[in-house]
Amino acid sequence: MKIENPKPIDWQFSTRAEQLQSSVIREILKVTMRPEIISFAGGLPSPATFPVERMKAAFDTVLSNQGKVALQYGPTDGYGPLREWIAQSLSTAECKISMEQVLMVSGSQQALDLIGKVLIDDHSKVLVETPSYLGALQAFSLYQPEFVSVPTDDNGLLPHEVAKIADGARLLYALPNFQNPTGRTMPVERRLQLVEVCEKLGLPLIEDDPYGALSYRNEPLPKMLTMNPDGVIYMGSFSKVLTPGIRLGYVVAPIPLIRKLEQAKQAADLHTSQLTQMVVYETIKDGFLAEHIPSIRTLYANQCQVMLDALDEFFPAGVTWNRPEGGMFIWLTLPKHIDCMHLLEEAIEQHVAFVPGASFYANAPEKNTLRLSFVTVPPEKIREGVAKLAKLIAAKLK
Ligand code: PMP
Repeated sequence: MKIENPKPIDWQFSTRAEQLQSSVIREILKVTMRPEIISFAGGLPSPATFPVERMKAAFDTVLSNQGKVALQYGPTDGYGPLREWIAQSLSTAECKISMEQVLMVSGSQQALDLIGKVLIDDHSKVLVETPSYLGALQAFSLYQPEFVSVPTDDNGLLPHEVAKIADGARLLYALPNFQNPTGRTMPVERRLQLVEVCEKLGLPLIEDDPYGALSYRNEPLPKMLTMNPDGVIYMGSFSKVLTPGIRLGYVVAPIPLIRKLEQAKQAADLHTSQLTQMVVYETIKDGFLAEHIPSIRTLYANQCQVMLDALDEFFPAGVTWNRPEGGMFIWLTLPKHIDCMHLLEEAIEQHVAFVPGASFYANAPEKNTLRLSFVTVPPEKIREGVAKLAKLIAAKLK
């Protein structure tokens, strides 16, 4: 039985939904999936690093030994042994993190949404870096805040600038390690100053850290979480150290906030897949990451060097870029008159893609910036793609 010629619904979306837009990156990614395109646009980790066999064995072990538990509904806060593992891995001699402070989420992207839900009202002031992670701007936007962009330099957020504009703000969202999109890192002293400023202001400081483990040469810098666990909300992810397809991340926060986030998560999806959490725990519990992460670092460090060498060799004077010490991105600043959105259209015609930087600004986009990712493109293609881009830019400088 079926109604004949049903009248289509005239959808009346919520004001919240009306202002939703697809991420520019996801739109670009659709084009760049074409095999002929050399894409520096994606933020995807290299599939060469995915430990497929190891995870296959872990799935098998979990399903053979604890299949009934793994396939059942689970607790909202997450799988206990994995939360305990995370708490221990984040604890230092000076700062003990307990598993009660850890909430498992379906990718750290979900943590951004939950944080928005429980901390942001319409018109709440939310402080973000200039530029910032597009996915966070998107997630927070749903709760209709007023974004205030905090000035930054090559070392990230400027703590004294935070103090000037923080009055009434609900939170500060910070990316201290190999930032997406700029690849820059905050030095230790800067972290401490920022934590101190936020503590004085009573301002919740969000530390989003999916790339922290991917430091090419040096030991990762201390986390702001460990400098003040009562004021910092830490977000971690297994996406860049295992695989993003498992959609597993975590948020660490003071107990009153964790309780609220847990209630919000319960309403959102009840809990993150118990099977996934158990498999990840099985995969990492015997120290696997300590041997696996160095292989990711080496691969990315080499790819990064190939791109830096190609930029040095091919790019014209007047373009500047940073030299990241970890992570997946290089950030370029072109002469002011070049709009990278237009440049992208021309680049795609030449079969190269990148992400225009404008999409990463909450306010006042700098249109002459762009983000390059080097992790999924083979070295010879990196050189070819950079040479093509250089030619397009050089033609605009004549
Ligand atoms: N934060 C940042 C800075 C990111 O770059 C990403 C993914 N690109 C995320 C959060 C979300 O990661 P996931 O949901 O895969 O954990």
